[in-house]
Order: sequence, then C-alpha cells, then structure tokens
Amino acid sequence: MPARKTTSRTKSSTSRTTARKSAGRKTAPRKSVASGSVASGGRTSTASRQKSATKKAAPKVSAKKGAKPSSKSAAKTAAKRSSSGSPSAAEQLREYQRKRDFTKTAEPSGSEKRGASRKKGQLRFVIQKHAASHLHYDLRLEIDGVMKSWAVPKGPSADPTVRRLAMQVEDHPVEYNSFEGTIPAGEYGGGTVMIWDTGTYTVEGAGDRDQNTAAREEYASGDFKVNFHGKRIQGSYALVRTRGGMRGNSNPDKPSWLLIKHRDEDARAQDDFDLTTEYETSAVSGRSMDEIRERGKVYGS
Ligand code: MN
Repeated sequence: MPARKTTSRTKSSTSRTTARKSAGRKTAPRKSVASGSVASGGRTSTASRQKSATKKAAPKVSAKKGAKPSSKSAAKTAAKRSSSGSPSAAEQLREYQRKRDFTKTAEPSGSEKRGASRKKGQLRFVIQKHAASHLHYDLRLEIDGVMKSWAVPKGPSADPTVRRLAMQVEDHPVEYNSFEGTIPAGEYGGGTVMIWDTGTYTVEGAGDRDQNTAAREEYASGDFKVNFHGKRIQGSYALVRTRGGMRGNSNPDKPSWLLIKHRDEDARAQDDFDLTTEYETSAVSGRSMDEIRERGKVYGS
C-alpha cells in the first residue's frame, strides 16, 4: 500500500475539483471523510472488512457449508489459468458472443484484435450506465485483453461505509469501452447504455509485478484493490468476492462481489455526495440517457 503524499494534498484536491467540474459535475460542496470517525485514521483491514461484509451481505450463503467449495474451486481454476500465462481473449469472449446476435445489436462483436494494442502498464476501465430491465451500472476492468465485468445495481459510492453489491457477468471485449447506444428491445441486455465514466486504473500493491499480472492475481484471489483514474470515479476501491452466489446468482464462475471505497482523500460521505446523481450525463458525449435513446446513434460511429 503506497503512502500518500500529504504535502501536495491541497494542490491535488484543487485540480481534481476542477477536473470534476469539467466532467459534468452539478454541485459544489466537497466534504472529505478521509479523516473520518475511524480511530486509527486508516482503512479497515481487508480481512476484517471481508469478514464483516460477508457476514452482513450474505448471511444465508455463508451459513451454508455447501457454498464454500464452489467459490474455492472457482478461485483455484482462476489461479491455475494464471500460472499457465494469459488466457486468450477469444476464449474468454465466447460467452459474450454466444449471448448476442450481432446482426441485431450494434454492440462490438469482440472479434477485432484491438484489445491487444494497449500500452504496457495502462489498464483501462469503463463504467456504463445501463437501463436494461433494471437500471444498473456495469463496471469493467481490463485484465488479459478483456474487460472483466460486474453489474452494480446501485452504482459506485465514494463513501467507505457503503458496500455496493457487484454481480460478476461475462467478460466483455475491450472495444465495448467505447460503446454508447441502445441495444434493441428483446435482445440480450436490451436498453440504453451510457458511458458514465472511463479511464485507467492501477493495481495497488503490485510490487515487482507488471500491472496486468498483479490485476490477474488479485482478481483471482478475490481481494482486488484498484485505484481509479477516471473523470468522475477517483481513488482507491476494493472489490471483494463473497462466498457463493446471492439473489439467485448460483453460478460459481459468476460470483457476487462487494465494491467498497477505501478511506483516502477521494472518499466522500454518501449523504453529501452521491456519485450517481452528481453525474447523470455521458462522460464522453455529454448526452443524457433520453438523448442517447432518442438519437439512437452509437457513440463514435
Ligand atoms: Mn449491463
């Protein structure tokens, strides 16, 4: 865990505030909760957080002994994959492609090789607001040439005391990061998709490992600490895998996770600052959900 420079805090929060304004921010007040009520002043340890998070969020599952082996075997499978090197993007995207009819949806097919062209050490992320049957936010983090994906029903929060359920879904192609448009009704995920935020992320505690390797290994461990460098979402978050499924998600390959803000200078109390209502338009086109739906045009095309 890298120490933060306190000397440059004033300067960096000023420039960050400016960046937020230009990213479409609606209101001004910014109260930091970084030095909030926790006696230690630091972040909760991952172990205790995971323990309490699991306890609170998934009591039925953790009480069942049967749920344990399935999540363990999923982790083992992922670990086995990583030790034999990067899995191919094509293999990882089979489920994505199987679920979609590309003659009907304008979503990218994932057959292009564009994903491989990333700069070393620059892992991309996107958060897409998706008005499907239920409105949710899709968080996607680049690992091994694909976007690992989670549906976050309530979207991200900047408040360290708020845990947001993040249900893992199928890997998406990197080209999906620039998809903003409307998936036809009746097709898989039918509804409007907005690019709510996009940028890069870094893996905390990567040490000597390159970023992609660190991301792959932390993801596989189920305790994935990332630093977002977005237009709107900033700073350190944990993605913590819970045991087994929740809310009918019983597939051990697609477990539930919790998205939790770490206590840092970007932390904000939810009551003062709600990320999802603070930013309601596209981070790339400035359009509202209605405007994306009405114009029907896919961003960038
Ligand atoms: Mn979605």
